[in-house]
Amino acid sequence: MAKQEEAQKRSPVVVILGHVDHGKTSLLDAIRNTTVTETESGGITQNIYISDVVWKDKKITFIDTPGHEVFSLMRINGGKVADVALLIIAADESIQPQTMESIDIILKQKIKFVVVITKVDKEAANPEKIKNDLVSKGVYLEGYGGDVPFVEVSAKTRKGLDQLLDLIELFVDVENIVDPEVEKVKLIDYYGEQVENIVSYGVVLDSSIDKGLGKTVFGVMKYGTIKKGDELYFGDHVEKAGMLFDPAKKSVQSVSAGQAFIMTGLNEMPSSGVDMIIPKDKVAYDQFIKQKMADLHTETAELSNEELLDSIFQDDHEHVVPIVMRTDVKATLQSILPTFEKFNSEQVALKVISSGVGGVTTSDIDFAKTFKAMVLAFRVKVQSSVLEYARHAGVEIHSFDVVYHLYDYITEYVQNTLGGTGEKVTVIGAVRVKQVFTLSDGEVVAGCVVTEGEVRRGAICRVSRGGAIVGEYQIQSLRVQKEERPTVGKGMECGINLGKNIDIVEGDVVEIVAKVR
Ligand code: GDP
Repeated sequence: MAKQEEAQKRSPVVVILGHVDHGKTSLLDAIRNTTVTETESGGITQNIYISDVVWKDKKITFIDTPGHEVFSLMRINGGKVADVALLIIAADESIQPQTMESIDIILKQKIKFVVVITKVDKEAANPEKIKNDLVSKGVYLEGYGGDVPFVEVSAKTRKGLDQLLDLIELFVDVENIVDPEVEKVKLIDYYGEQVENIVSYGVVLDSSIDKGLGKTVFGVMKYGTIKKGDELYFGDHVEKAGMLFDPAKKSVQSVSAGQAFIMTGLNEMPSSGVDMIIPKDKVAYDQFIKQKMADLHTETAELSNEELLDSIFQDDHEHVVPIVMRTDVKATLQSILPTFEKFNSEQVALKVISSGVGGVTTSDIDFAKTFKAMVLAFRVKVQSSVLEYARHAGVEIHSFDVVYHLYDYITEYVQNTLGGTGEKVTVIGAVRVKQVFTLSDGEVVAGCVVTEGEVRRGAICRVSRGGAIVGEYQIQSLRVQKEERPTVGKGMECGINLGKNIDIVEGDVVEIVAKVR
């Protein structure tokens, strides 16, 4: 197939970013309805992450991960995941903190983007203010000193939706966004000459254990094709691709660039944001990736304590953050460690001084104490005796079960190191689940009694069952009887709405984790 035709066939991957409540979900819902009702070949497939939209016979893959997670993913791998970002700004509110965060990610990762001004039907709408406000944030729209395209829309009246879809298609064509060669250029930073050895490339958006299908990966292809039985590298861990499905869970033979997919049959669960690669020359790639991994470990493997201390003190960075990392399985460790590079900047460098598989031990604590390191425990249980030991030693162990939360913690730590907000993530309360209700739209509400501290809307719920953490979710809304409350204190009963697809049952114990100053 000629290069031109191939490029035309590939659908762009569009990521939606913006402040909470600025209308991202409504916009996507409205787009889906538009494409279903107004195009003959229109069709939708959808799950919580992806919508495959067909517009004028061309496909667009929209990624709309829940707010909290999309930022982490974009910070780590945004430039690779997104062909185009839509920066959503509500016409009545203009630029808000997460708008700023989105702009920051988009500009830093050099993502091509379109500004979408939403809710223009509202009385208080003031699109002109947004256009001017953006200038002061370094975003120059067309007609306002720059060339960033923008469109004004309303999900309610459907104004501007056709223009938005046309604009995305045009933008993709004009900017040559889906050219496979452009995709490869994005990989050079990490893969160097091995880029030429890459036949297929995708990114893991999420992984989970499906009751029927076992370990599954949810991802998006950016280059080339994968099919069942292909050998894929997740970091230096090799897997055989099992069954493949499209986002609507329809079985497919192969998946090509621009498409999102679900893959089953894996032995281990890779982390979100990790690259999936099929190399042409496996031997050469194997060597390259093993060397990359080895580079990440050399400090601990070869240096004495004194040398390690020296290496921390002599580092050119203003701040060095030593890390002791423990994970459940090797694949997780290998997929997470390379992503730490993304947090480094001119001032700050993360330094993994010890890493391994299995529970945190007292010698890890001793080691962390010597080097003033943070201990990160990912999907591993920390025994209470070790916790106690750490407490005495003045070493903090940070446990995570979801990779986004780990990234968020590091981001926040790095920001604080640089004199950020001074906010700290900590356990602020605990509840016991008395009853669980599922609402007609699939949202899950846990009826709880607050046993310690307080519950706060927007905080994270860390659900444990039989001593093991089984999930982490953000509190969407918090009610006492029918009344919405920002916080609920000890001894009170409340209903906690956690959103859809939630694993929580009666008797679960839930820790409430939030930012405090
Ligand atoms: P998200 O958090 O960015 O996904 O925002 P939502 O899509 O959930 O929208 C937040 C609120 O704004 C909801 O109450 C929507 O009904 C409302 N909303 C979204 N889009 C529009 C719009 O175009 N016009 C008006 N009037 N309200 C909107």
